[in-house]
Amino acid sequence: MAANAAPAHSAHPAHPARLARSAFGTFVDLLMPPVCAACKAPVVSQGYCADCWSSLPEISGSQCQSCGIPLPIAWQTEAVCLECRRAPPAWNRAIAPYVYAGTARQTLLAFKNGREELAGLMAQAMVRAGAPLLQPGALLLPVPLHRWRLWSRGYNQSLLLARAIARTTGLELRFDLLQRAKPTAKSNGLTRVGRVRNVRGVFRVPSDLRSGLKGRHVILIDDVLTTGATAAACARVLRRAGAARVDVLVHARVAQAEMPTYLATTSRRDADGQG
Ligand SMILES: [Zn+2]
Ligand SMILES: [Zn+2]
Repeated sequence: MAANAAPAHSAHPAHPARLARSAFGTFVDLLMPPVCAACKAPVVSQGYCADCWSSLPEISGSQCQSCGIPLPIAWQTEAVCLECRRAPPAWNRAIAPYVYAGTARQTLLAFKNGREELAGLMAQAMVRAGAPLLQPGALLLPVPLHRWRLWSRGYNQSLLLARAIARTTGLELRFDLLQRAKPTAKSNGLTRVGRVRNVRGVFRVPSDLRSGLKGRHVILIDDVLTTGATAAACARVLRRAGAARVDVLVHARVAQAEMPTYLATTSRRDADGQG
């Protein structure tokens, strides 16, 4: 299998804040024992304390084969939720190891707020849950940040996750194929329609790089799937540029409060055909 593309480990912009932070992080690690990824209680090694580990909101058992939301009872494993049957997502299949709640949400917030060292732990869970997607020949693409946001934050958390997944699986990682053409407003608080509008025309594949996508099985990597507007916008652009299949792998997905009633009859093949 192809090893990680050479640039995967080298082309992350060297950001002064990031360099300072990682140097500081190494220094702090020497002085302080590791803490739980969620509650910050002292732990023996990188990971969760026993309480947080046992309360991780894992999506196990039945889940929508299209958008990955947990289905409320033990439906057949090939189920597709009503929402996806009504409006099939632009991607083929989305998988998340966790619901965005409790311990998983705390982990994501800590990761977003500078605990970059959590990427490996989070990627482990994503690799485990995402095994059906992480097939030989698949191409990992992190959802890009606009360079202004990248500059202010210092790193793209999707790229950190994608890189950790590439290291574990040996799959190829490209961060140049999918680009964010313009910055987007923060999507917190936006409705579903607002979020769709917010990402319209935002992503692009540079025309000279399109050949790299022809017929490829792409796996979009992001930290969290909310309404799916961002992932859908990316998937559409990638399809148009020639990708044969686009899946989505995230660490956690929001399980909508207004859960639709579920229909558990569609086969996986139907769902795949709809993307
Ligand atoms: Zn804990
Ligand atoms: Zn669904």
